[in-house]
Amino acid sequence: MTQTQEVRVRYAPSPTGDPHVGNIRTALFNWLYARHTGGKFILRIEDTDQLREAQGALSAILQSLRWLGLQWDEGPEVGGPYAPYIQSERLPLYQEAARRLVAQGHAYTCYCTPEELEAMRKMQQQRREPPRYERRCRDAAYREKKAKEGGPSVIRFRTPLEGDAIVVHDLVRNGVSFDPATLDDFVLLKSAGFPTYHLANVVDDHFMHITHVLRAEEWLPSTPRHLMLYRALGYNVPKFGHLPMILGPDRSKLSKRHGATALLDYRAQGFLPEAMVNFLALLGWSLDDKTEVLSQEELVRHFSIERISKAAAIFNIEKLTWMNGVYIRKMGPEALAAQLATALTHHAQEKGITLAAPITQDALRPITPLVQERLHTMQPQEVWDLCGFFLTPLPAYGDAPFRKSPLAPQARRAALEETVVALESLEDFSATALEGALRPLAERLGLKTRDLFMLIRIAVTGTDVAPPLFETMAVLGKERTLERLRYAIRLAG
Ligand code: GLU
Repeated sequence: MTQTQEVRVRYAPSPTGDPHVGNIRTALFNWLYARHTGGKFILRIEDTDQLREAQGALSAILQSLRWLGLQWDEGPEVGGPYAPYIQSERLPLYQEAARRLVAQGHAYTCYCTPEELEAMRKMQQQRREPPRYERRCRDAAYREKKAKEGGPSVIRFRTPLEGDAIVVHDLVRNGVSFDPATLDDFVLLKSAGFPTYHLANVVDDHFMHITHVLRAEEWLPSTPRHLMLYRALGYNVPKFGHLPMILGPDRSKLSKRHGATALLDYRAQGFLPEAMVNFLALLGWSLDDKTEVLSQEELVRHFSIERISKAAAIFNIEKLTWMNGVYIRKMGPEALAAQLATALTHHAQEKGITLAAPITQDALRPITPLVQERLHTMQPQEVWDLCGFFLTPLPAYGDAPFRKSPLAPQARRAALEETVVALESLEDFSATALEGALRPLAERLGLKTRDLFMLIRIAVTGTDVAPPLFETMAVLGKERTLERLRYAIRLAG
């Protein structure tokens, strides 16, 4: 690659299910590198394994990228100079490459049936040998005999039987060598004319002029095969960088046990895309080993392959939740009110909750400063628990929350009645005025302020973990606050 050549990187998912966070981390690193260098980010769908294809997976891939704002420059739905970007629509290219490899002696047709391969595998297992193709059809005489018998065939690569070690010059892990003797004659083209991952991946990276292959470490063992293919096909070799594994906090492979693994589940759980991008960027990359909060623009500005680490990254959901809180607190009041409106409307509709008035951004504006510090996610239930009582005619509570109050029912009732009297005469219903009225009341009643305020809080909101009390009452207004206090008196019997 010359200095002036444009960087072209790709994200090449297989549509086998909803993309998981590890997969999207690969997309993000490629996107960041493309944006950092002013290059191109290409999306290619590797759907040549028809058996593993899952319904809806393509749409989940596109949605995941769009949710995070990782727009691709070439690929499905946007097109580009090397279209199509879906491998099942590019079969002739792979078939042609396979034919050429056979013609040049780099590959051969193999007629071994699945039953024969299975029998071979069993024998190898018994002999405690690693499973591999025994290269029967590599022998021309045997192959010709089998060809006469007819039947389905595949095309296999003729891996050199000896030779120097194959060295992958990896941008992240430097030189990694592989002994060619450990590589078998892998399949390039399957019997139905579909390529394997290895063939299609190399052919496409060549024809799409990919300059850097940044992909997960799990693909590193495939890379020596790819290098042999590049050589045999006479293609220029791109640069490779294998991204570190992502582990759970217990250092085992990230799985459902550690929380959701599909990216879109995090959207459903109320995580913000900005927080997700920041969090994923730090899974295997860092600016300086200490800076945690970086905006998308900062990430683009600073991203470099040099600072990708070799060591496995740990996926810590608590860190993600913390980071999400950081981003919620960074939101402007209008944006937050809009997000709250969406979450609350969703929740109210789903649960069939009766509302005092329609949920609007305007109605939520005074509430946002009260909850902004307290929200961890935008998950509808969490948002509802914090804001719902502002929106319903009366909070939907019975006697249960009052059991948290240390006061006996009789004392509760008396305290609430006195509170009503104190508030009825209050002209100014601001937070300061409310505090000015209620602190002396506690003293008059001989109650700890903490106990009185907790009681009022439960009466007004239905819970003891609501936003700041006086501000909450001020937002609710005099009429609704008194209505709730009177309701609580009736409950106290
Ligand atoms: N289709 C492979 C995957 O699903 C792509 C691996 C690569 O980037 O070469 O991850």
